[in-house]
Amino acid sequence: MPVDEPLTCEVKVDGLWQAVSLNEAAVSYSAALKRCPACHGRVMILGTYSRPDVRRSMSHRKSHGGCPLKLDTYTGTPSLHPQALT
Ligand SMILES: [Zn+2]
Repeated sequence: MPVDEPLTCEVKVDGLWQAVSLNEAAVSYSAALKRCPACHGRVMILGTYSRPDVRRSMSHRKSHGGCPLKLDTYTGTPSLHPQALT
């Protein structure tokens, strides 16, 4: 079931987290650490990396019941990921 994915994620650049579009994250920051803007869990960007026209989505590496962006596993109570990136 498709859910509304956020259009941004956070990437770590020079020690600071910045919000960028999923497209930028995949193309310009492919080697950087990426995290979910809601629960700060580590994510990866799905979609073909070399093609800018592909619709991308974000996937948590470990699912987490406290992430409101992941409706299929969300328990209703937001909390940080147990392995949140800081
Ligand atoms: Zn999350």
